[in-house]
Amino acid sequence: TTVLGIETSCDETAAAVVRSVEGSAGGEILSNTVYSQIADHAAFGGVVPEIAARAHVEGLDAIVARSLADADVTLDDIDAVAVTAGPGLIGGLIVGMMTAKAICTARSLPLVAINHLEGHALTPRLTDGMPFPYLLLLVSGGHTQILLVRGLGDYERWGTTIDDALGEAFDKTAKLLGLPYPGGPAVEREARNGDATRFPLPRPMKGEERLDFSFSGLKSAVRRQASELAPLTAQDVHDLCASFQAAVTDTLRDRMLRALRRYRGEVSDHPAALVVAGGVAANQAIRAMLEDVCKDEKTRLYAPPQSLCSDNAAMIAWAGIEHLETGTATGMDVAPRSRWPLDEAAASLIGAGR
Ligand code: ATP
Ligand code: MG
Ligand code: FE
Repeated sequence: TTVLGIETSCDETAAAVVRSVEGSAGGEILSNTVYSQIADHAAFGGVVPEIAARAHVEGLDAIVARSLADADVTLDDIDAVAVTAGPGLIGGLIVGMMTAKAICTARSLPLVAINHLEGHALTPRLTDGMPFPYLLLLVSGGHTQILLVRGLGDYERWGTTIDDALGEAFDKTAKLLGLPYPGGPAVEREARNGDATRFPLPRPMKGEERLDFSFSGLKSAVRRQASELAPLTAQDVHDLCASFQAAVTDTLRDRMLRALRRYRGEVSDHPAALVVAGGVAANQAIRAMLEDVCKDEKTRLYAPPQSLCSDNAAMIAWAGIEHLETGTATGMDVAPRSRWPLDEAAASLIGAGR
């Protein structure tokens, strides 16, 4: 099966061609074409929905054409189109779905509507044929979730953020310290020369039984500290970034330790696997902490390559392949959903019918 994937839920305009391989658990990525709109949004310190939607309209046709060319295939070689139907910014989702439906109508191809989070969740199966079940930590600009991936369409959300996403917290903290967008890489860079113990910032949710996250109080604490010190020296910024990153890492450690113990108690006492995905997974301090926790808990840590961790269409094409192979295509009447919790993914796909 060869599937064209389309992803336009946030600020990446992306298309990809992925093929399932006979006798192998994973898939083969023939092309993975991503246009990142970071430069279009940088001046505003975050993603502007209107600008994103317009950029998707202007760019998607060319990205699809380039992705087919990169894969050295034509639409004649494509068996189905998989497209992100949600969650995300509605303008971009509409652009992606209209394009996918147009291709499917013109070429009489099946359409598979994919939940963006499911794309992230199934990525280790594309790259490594990872068997179910496993735990997923998804940390990006829009999401912060701990998910139990039991099987295809069988996802349990164990924890989520009650306010800001982790990437969003990095971006907002960077902005208030006068650092460029995207904030994650900037904060990490600044933190390298900072003293993480200089400011005793809060560790929101640490010690809580439930596996949720909260980051807006932490960001506010950085803001208060910064305004007390103003005007900030370069060293102040280094130290604030280091203290912020330490607080985040410390909280994450507590959450993940609990999640892994719960996994062992409830799901399986087999050596568990923890998959980390999302743009924030690039952070070296967070990565080192996860390696440490997993070592202690005898868990295998797996992080897909960064190009497949941040938003891309290869993961959407792959999720499409998995659904097609179990017989679930989507009707052409399916509508984009800006909110679409992953736990509902299976139900709403079936609800949309064929
Ligand atoms: P979605 O939430 O839908 O996946 P997104 O585009 O916001 O969409 P990604 O592209 O996966 O998410 O990730 C972008 C986020 O990752 C930004 O918030 C960015 O600041 C953060 N990020 C990137 N690199 C780092 C880093 N080294 N440390 C911390 N955060 C980082
Ligand atoms: Mg992005
Ligand atoms: Fe994403």
